[in-house]
Amino acid sequence: MERDMNARVRHVQLLYEVRRAHLERQDHRPDSTILYLNTNYDLTDFDLDAYERAARAVPGAVIRAIFNSKAPLAVEVNEPLMVRGLGLALIGLLLARVRRYILGRPTTVVCYAIENGDVRRSITERHGRWAWRAFSLLSRGVMKRMDRVAFGTESASQCYMEQLGASAKAMRLVAPLEPRCGECDPLGSDPRVLFVGSFEPRKGVLELLAAWEAKQVDQDDPVVELVLMGQGPLAEQVRDWAGPRTDVTIVSAPSPAQIHQFQARAKVLVLLSQATASWREQVGLPILEGLSHGCEIVTTRETGLAAWLLSNGHQVIAESGVDDVLEALNRALLAQRGPEEIVSALPLVSGRAAAQNWMLNEE
Ligand SMILES: [Zn+2]
Repeated sequence: MERDMNARVRHVQLLYEVRRAHLERQDHRPDSTILYLNTNYDLTDFDLDAYERAARAVPGAVIRAIFNSKAPLAVEVNEPLMVRGLGLALIGLLLARVRRYILGRPTTVVCYAIENGDVRRSITERHGRWAWRAFSLLSRGVMKRMDRVAFGTESASQCYMEQLGASAKAMRLVAPLEPRCGECDPLGSDPRVLFVGSFEPRKGVLELLAAWEAKQVDQDDPVVELVLMGQGPLAEQVRDWAGPRTDVTIVSAPSPAQIHQFQARAKVLVLLSQATASWREQVGLPILEGLSHGCEIVTTRETGLAAWLLSNGHQVIAESGVDDVLEALNRALLAQRGPEEIVSALPLVSGRAAAQNWMLNEE
């Protein structure tokens, strides 16, 4: 990254893991730069080295990004309850304080928070009570020194209050809903159930396959197709299972264009997230994408969006047994409303972008 570019930067994101959505949001912000430690699987086919405004978070790059900028700077770090991101968040906080208090340059530290799992229990069970005490001390310290924290969901905001009991200087709840997709027109509702995501147990892939296997084909029913788009550790098992089936299609390693194309046509998007001892679905990006294409959503109570989905007529199930899943899929497939009615409940501007504008004090 060039020095003159750094001089204009007003927003530095220090991320444990960068994903495609970060880059897409950054497209609209020429004054933003991303420094990351790892890449999400959704960037597997993306040439990040050729992308100018993101770089590995090596010490030199972090220091240059924060200190070369002459503009008022917002340093965005990972949320304090993200265990793997806390080290980088502490470094970001420390450098921001040096910049603010020693160099006297306007600097804020902000984050977007969507963790809704029981981090206390997961750390205590795996590493003991002292590990949680040490982690929560640091995590609480970061939280209290945040200038702005935008919560994506009500359940994330509750989770922070219960586990850290600490407030940032300013906090706000901004649902991460995306508006109707501007690229896809018209939106259809083919009798198709779509799964997009990583083929791994926590995304409920096995529960979905089990339910589909038990599906009784009634001659009066419209022919329903299951489309599985993704890749991951269960890919081989998914392929073997789908092999002889005529009502299942697999799209492995789908491109963003393919995902749009399928989401714009499918009636139902399914994501049966399963909580583990150390993980709970925060939002579920495919749910947001499915909504913006007018899909009926079938999901579990794990997503932080569960309350919003329930009150907007989508299917949220407590258990992922075969009968529960099939019943929810059928209700979604038989829903009378069309995609345009579903997207009419969405905001006109991206909630995630609105949260960022607020964090950067630009609304
Ligand atoms: Zn689209």
